[in-house]
Amino acid sequence: MRVLVIEDEPDLARQIAATLEEAGYAVDVAHDGEEGHFLGDTEPYDVVVLDLGLPVIDGLTVLERWRRDGKDMPVLILTARDRWSEKVAGFDAGADDYVTKPFQMEELLARLRALIRRTAGHATVQLECGSVVLDTRSGRVTADDVTIKLTAQEYKILAYLMHHQEKIVSRTELTEHVYDQDFDRDSNTIEVFIGRLRKKLGVDVIKTERGLGYRLSPPEGVKKDSGKKPKEKAEKNAG
Ligand code: CA
Repeated sequence: MRVLVIEDEPDLARQIAATLEEAGYAVDVAHDGEEGHFLGDTEPYDVVVLDLGLPVIDGLTVLERWRRDGKDMPVLILTARDRWSEKVAGFDAGADDYVTKPFQMEELLARLRALIRRTAGHATVQLECGSVVLDTRSGRVTADDVTIKLTAQEYKILAYLMHHQEKIVSRTELTEHVYDQDFDRDSNTIEVFIGRLRKKLGVDVIKTERGLGYRLSPPEGVKKDSGKKPKEKAEKNAG
């Protein structure tokens, strides 16, 4: 998942970026509204953290322009304390959530997780595909209840696929959502990571759709289930 952080206070911007990278996001940072607007306009972000008080173009205007141009990525705004009118204006301009400065990084992380989850249509912090489970809160991945150790890049790729289950995801799309803009991108390396992921997971959940990309879906014969007791329900359509 790729995040754009638009914040003009250098220390805070660095701190947010470090926290998000640590949590497994690809992060781009902009320090004024013009650069931030441009990035949000041209790069596909899964979520945006937008400070309202920004140089060149203020955050509210940035948000209004995106929404006017049909950009619908989830946006969390950073507002000053005791400025309730900012929150109202932010929501009216198309914000999805806010945190008030100063804030705890844990709260920001939790709110971003919730935003990404809602956008992808998931209700819980645990994403499941067959026997593979990814906990978006802890970053833990298990297959058949065994913990799988993944590198940062492998985790980013699996997290993106888990959020877009049953959809065909091209290599270009994966590249755009798991690398930040400074990364020397090469979509061929995606193939290498996918190969390693398949090996580590040991289950056939990442399908190759020839000429199109990849699709994450439970192995054949395993019924996808959003309910509470997946193991019991599996018998329903047996045979
Ligand atoms: Ca500011």
